Amino acid sequence: AAAFDVLIIGGGPIGIACGLAAKKAGLQYTIVEKGCLVNSLYNYPLYMTFFSTSERLEVGGIPFVSINPKPGRPEALEYYRRVATSEDLRLQLFEEVLEITPNAGQYIVQTSRNTYHTRNVIIATGFYDIPNLLDVPGEHLPKVTHYYKDPHYYATRKVIVIGAHNSAVDAALETYRRGAQVTMVIRDKEIGNRVKYWVKPDIENRIREGSITAHFNSTVTAIREKEADIATPEGNITIANDFVIAMTGYQPNFRLLEKAGILLSDDGKKIPAYHPLTMETNMPHIYLAGVVCGGMNTHLWFIENSREHADRIIGDIMQNR
Ligand code: FAD
Repeated sequence: AAAFDVLIIGGGPIGIACGLAAKKAGLQYTIVEKGCLVNSLYNYPLYMTFFSTSERLEVGGIPFVSINPKPGRPEALEYYRRVATSEDLRLQLFEEVLEITPNAGQYIVQTSRNTYHTRNVIIATGFYDIPNLLDVPGEHLPKVTHYYKDPHYYATRKVIVIGAHNSAVDAALETYRRGAQVTMVIRDKEIGNRVKYWVKPDIENRIREGSITAHFNSTVTAIREKEADIATPEGNITIANDFVIAMTGYQPNFRLLEKAGILLSDDGKKIPAYHPLTMETNMPHIYLAGVVCGGMNTHLWFIENSREHADRIIGDIMQNR
């Protein structure tokens, strides 16, 4: 069993930022990632464009050079990979952390492959692994997905896109432009106000001209092989349907946090308890970094405003030494 000063859980942009800061401080560290390097970004839609400009996606002060104002997925994969390899970051990939247990002033971190002993733990596990479920009959049919990848698959098909935020809007526009007949089902009365400012007029105009059908104040209530039921303000309707793309958001792995003893707010937002300056949780020497900090409010944190967690945490660890 290896002994570390700090074990970082999650090899996303913020886990990498923490690794860079730990290395710079001369700490014994490793990053444990359940999938590939920057697994969440790898699983993003193939043609997604970040809402952030490239310099705002930078970690460790290492320049992210892009000739596009907003980089896309392949460029971000290239950037974070080059950061990790050129800095020779210590990484354990395809290894999932299952449990964090206190033990004699240290922690034992049990993974799918190893047992580690560490003084400090940084949880940077993001929120992209667990989709918010619709909880309706038919949700588990193979035609329903919570992870949209590539529009071509939907060509000539009848597609329902559920949701009104960036992921839903991107999926609706891309599949419409690859020849799908798209129906959006939107719980609220309008397209979300955080939708990328250059994309919002595009979706609103496609809806207004009738190229994309949108049911506002509506929910999908059942999904079957060849059709779906929608509750609309005008009553219940049934429409022909081949695929459902449910862009209903995601949530952090609260079970992992709770099992480690971290308290969650009981106001439905499940915000984990941490000190805003040091990022230390109610469990001594367990820190949170990145988008996991927001609980159910997954839009609160992003790369630009959470990459600074890395220096705060490593600063606190160095001070406590
Ligand atoms: P993540 O990138 O999610 O990294 C967490 C990592 O932890 C993952 O690789 C995961 O596999 C791993 N992990 C989880 N559980 C375990 C476990 N038990 N053991 C080991 N490893 C584990 N943000 C921006 O700043 N700008 C954007 O333009 C932007 N666009 C986005 C577009 C989409 C489609 C989505 C879904 C999100 C976007 N975001 C954007 C938000 C973005 O996901 C986050 O800002 C960024 O990924 C946060 O980094 P993170 O390291 O906190 O989390």
